[in-house]
Amino acid sequence: MKLRCRVFAFCCSLTLLFSCALAEEDDGSLVRITTGLPAAEAVEEELAAETDGDETPDAAAETAQPDEADAGAPAPSVTASPAAEETGERWADSQPFGIRHGPRDQKKVAVTMDDCYDRACIREIFDFCQELGVPMTFFPLGDQLKKKDAELWKAIAASNCEIGSHTNHHTNWQHMSYNGICIHLYRTQECLDEVLGYHYGMVSLRPPFGRYTNEKGTPLATAVKACTRYGYEHVVLWDVSQTNAELAKADVQNGSILLYHARAKDVKCLKTLIPWLIQEGYELVTVKDLLQLGEIEIGPEPYVHKKGE
Ligand SMILES: [Zn+2]
Repeated sequence: MKLRCRVFAFCCSLTLLFSCALAEEDDGSLVRITTGLPAAEAVEEELAAETDGDETPDAAAETAQPDEADAGAPAPSVTASPAAEETGERWADSQPFGIRHGPRDQKKVAVTMDDCYDRACIREIFDFCQELGVPMTFFPLGDQLKKKDAELWKAIAASNCEIGSHTNHHTNWQHMSYNGICIHLYRTQECLDEVLGYHYGMVSLRPPFGRYTNEKGTPLATAVKACTRYGYEHVVLWDVSQTNAELAKADVQNGSILLYHARAKDVKCLKTLIPWLIQEGYELVTVKDLLQLGEIEIGPEPYVHKKGE
């Protein structure tokens, strides 16, 4: 992504310009972008759908063996996974488009938290992890990145934690056009940079509901094309999502990606689970480090999407 500096008035006109385009190119999700805030009931509906029980990946990806979820993709490496600097290749390069876990030969795991509706929960678990010196990866929705929470997001961005994209409004990609997905991707980057006041180039992306495939389990061509356009070569899924700490312990293995949400019960679980992971000798790392997705590009100027980029 290129950095662009724009004055406020131009941003407004640009937003208006795209808003018009959105209305023509996509369905209801685009209307929400023009307003800046999704309808409360829609968010509630999506959140309820996602958190009705533990969030589970797209059905095809869940029922199939992970390696089979991406038809035709190379089989993930389950053997040696040397560091990228040693080989010039990143571990993720050998993986399918949707990655459910990291290397199984290293005792590393990544704890992630999606959506980020409840800032008090984010603050609580962030402080908890900082006291323990371990990182987490947060996947906020773009429309949940509020200016009033700038201090919190700046602290997270400046810490050992990672911020990834969960798109702007939690809209199911299976119901979206290529242009619609593109808008969600660049808009979320804009939202994060607006809050931080500088450019923080996200490298990890988690699709809403973990859905990124068609009914045959093949990655949506629209999603792959849009993600590639905005620098995301993979989408990040998960292999552990139990909010009962004892059940989660049974599911965790080397390379696990743990999925949680900013809810009291999830925070409670993590306060038991994270110390246990440390005690068991797991190294907690960010998603980008677990999967070797690349480094966060930092720049002085917030990203502003330019038509055609
Ligand atoms: Zn979500």
